[in-house]
Amino acid sequence: MHTFTESDPTVRGAAERMAKESAFALLLLHTESDRILASNSAADVLFGYEPGGLVNRSIRMLIAGWDPHAVAGSSPFLSRCQQLSGHSFAAEVHLSDPDETPERVVTVRLLTDDTSPAPAQAGSPQLQELVSLLNATLESTADGLLVVSSNGVITGVNSRFATLWGIPSTVLAAHDDQAVMALVLEQLISPDAFLEKVTELYSQPLAESLDVLKFHDGRVFERFSRPQLVADRVVGRVWSFRDITSQRRAEKKAKSALRKLRRRAEDLKQLAYTDPLTGLGNRALFNEVLTAAHSDGEGAGTTVMLLDLDDFKEVNDIHGHQAGDRLLIDIAHKLSGCIPETGTIARLGGDEFVILLPPGIDSTSVAQNLLQTVHQPVDIDGTVILPSLSMGLADAQCDSYPQNAASDLLRRADIAMYAAKMAGKNQFIRFQAAMMEKLVARTELQETLRSAVRNREISPYFQSVHHRDGPVRQYEALARWKKGDAYCPPDIFIAEAEASGFIIDLGAHILDRACREMAPWLQDDPARSIAVNVSGIQIRERLFAERVLSAVKLNGVSPRQLVLEVTESLFLDESAEVIHQLQSLRSEGVRISLDDFGIGYSSFARLQTLPVDTVKLDKSFISVIQQASDRSPVLESMIVMAHNLGLTVTAEGVETELQAQYLYDMGCDYLQGFLYSEAVPAHKIPGRAGQRQASNP
Ligand code: C2E
Ligand code: CA
Ligand code: CA
Repeated sequence: MHTFTESDPTVRGAAERMAKESAFALLLLHTESDRILASNSAADVLFGYEPGGLVNRSIRMLIAGWDPHAVAGSSPFLSRCQQLSGHSFAAEVHLSDPDETPERVVTVRLLTDDTSPAPAQAGSPQLQELVSLLNATLESTADGLLVVSSNGVITGVNSRFATLWGIPSTVLAAHDDQAVMALVLEQLISPDAFLEKVTELYSQPLAESLDVLKFHDGRVFERFSRPQLVADRVVGRVWSFRDITSQRRAEKKAKSALRKLRRRAEDLKQLAYTDPLTGLGNRALFNEVLTAAHSDGEGAGTTVMLLDLDDFKEVNDIHGHQAGDRLLIDIAHKLSGCIPETGTIARLGGDEFVILLPPGIDSTSVAQNLLQTVHQPVDIDGTVILPSLSMGLADAQCDSYPQNAASDLLRRADIAMYAAKMAGKNQFIRFQAAMMEKLVARTELQETLRSAVRNREISPYFQSVHHRDGPVRQYEALARWKKGDAYCPPDIFIAEAEASGFIIDLGAHILDRACREMAPWLQDDPARSIAVNVSGIQIRERLFAERVLSAVKLNGVSPRQLVLEVTESLFLDESAEVIHQLQSLRSEGVRISLDDFGIGYSSFARLQTLPVDTVKLDKSFISVIQQASDRSPVLESMIVMAHNLGLTVTAEGVETELQAQYLYDMGCDYLQGFLYSEAVPAHKIPGRAGQRQASNP
């Protein structure tokens, strides 16, 4: 029979409260440790902690003889448990089956223990006292008790048994065992199984057993049975029944709460690894997959592909960010469809995607397929866009693979991707060791460029601009950098200066020197001018116009004698600041020339609204004129349209008399090119040296 033996009031208090709430003490453990991850309030109460106070404690401190391996998934075991106050109590402990639940769920139930009374003399006052104590206990316990003798006659029963089973006291009083059994059986869902168990137990008189009974009305009882012994002899069997319906419910609730918790944790994990725009994996996911693929030395043979959309900035600038987002989603969808199931794809951010291919996949054909699939017209808000990709591939080498392989691989793919961009976009390039050397060279260039800009080693040369009749009235300043014995081409160092921001300093220096060196020549005739190239990065500076005006004035040059050459890309982002800067310069007389016209994005419709005075037709339009019979309808209509807009037209890259004649015939206003002169230092400009001496005594 079951009685409380715990005399300590705190344990008893906890037990009463738990019984009232019909709650189980539940503890959730980390999978691989004995640390407590979470506890329910019943557990906090039982062990005497503040809410949440059990978290992170070791379960070994609470449950004596804790051995997770021995008991996992098996039936409950008995143990002494320790309260915070120092009191201990007996409990039934159950640990969830590790195959069933990912975390380990420990269920602790305060036990009602069984202590055998000290042997007593029959008829003694001691015995009488014991019997009355037993009776009192029998009636106060929450369990329904039934004692049946070995020959099947009911020899004892408490009133709780009658209440639990709804058996009328008259039936019990009549000791009508058949009627009791009939009443019991008709309430159970599986009466046959119950009967079978009973029969089995009677054939094994010493056996103890625990079982669960389910009722038609939804109740659940726990049935415990043990032999009734008198001195070592079996005289009958004790059956105890406990209504565990509410405990079961609490258990179920706790389980479903756990399930929900787990699902939420999974959702959170999923969220942390997903790119919200495209639904692909994100950088965190990719890093994890890449590192995992290489951590066990199994990385050899994998390929990392880094993908970057070409000219995505223009889509964003011209069509807006929403259109940009839609394009990214469309591309993400197409990319996913092109990679094998064993591959991983993620968006690293912006317009950059990355793919990891496992060994044995033909990365070349995957890359070709990706290029083709993406390079299809897409309709975004009624505008058709033809997107393309630049791709860098890096293969994990089979031999001696370095420790930091994962990050190295991504870096190599990045270098190869950059090479693909440089090689003209819409293509893929596989990383080769030589690319690393180029990168090193670039870094070195950055370094020397930094000191060249600082030490004013870059100077302007001047190329003449010609008119059909009349003398040269304009020179274009072109930056020249003599590196040792050779000249470094401006296309290379200007791009590098733009990328690093040195261009602001360099541009100011070229403007200042061009004005200073050409001032004597300019001062001689107010119709003369110099053209200076400026980069978009300079014009986006808030004080650009102010600085330009003060530079020309400081050198004694009129703003009317300055032409600034800008490229069309400057107007792509519709920046009001850029327009504002150019307008304030023009209001002072500075003229603006649109360089490399025709190869960019501007249309004549657009040109009408821009603060521009001149267009410079790009060299590529001139070079097509090779023979007397050659014609360029595009060139011809560009000249006509520019004139219609009130702009003057300069053609650059004129190399032959034939080209010059053709351009003049088409009405082109100014010509520039090797036919007349390359860019030369200021002191070689005819007539300038003498004037310099005159004005600079
Ligand atoms: P750009 O402004 O279009 O300059 C014209 C380029 O064409 C110059 O190349 C010039 O030397 C070259 N050129 C002139 N005549 C001919 C010809 O008949 N045939 C051919 N094939 N080429 C000819 P360069 O000096 O190498 O400059 C390249 C580009 O570097 C310039 O193109 C300009 O965009 C940029 N750049 C040069 N100096 C500066 C500068 O001071 N500031 C900025 N922001 N950019 C500059
Ligand atoms: Ca130019
Ligand atoms: Ca040009």
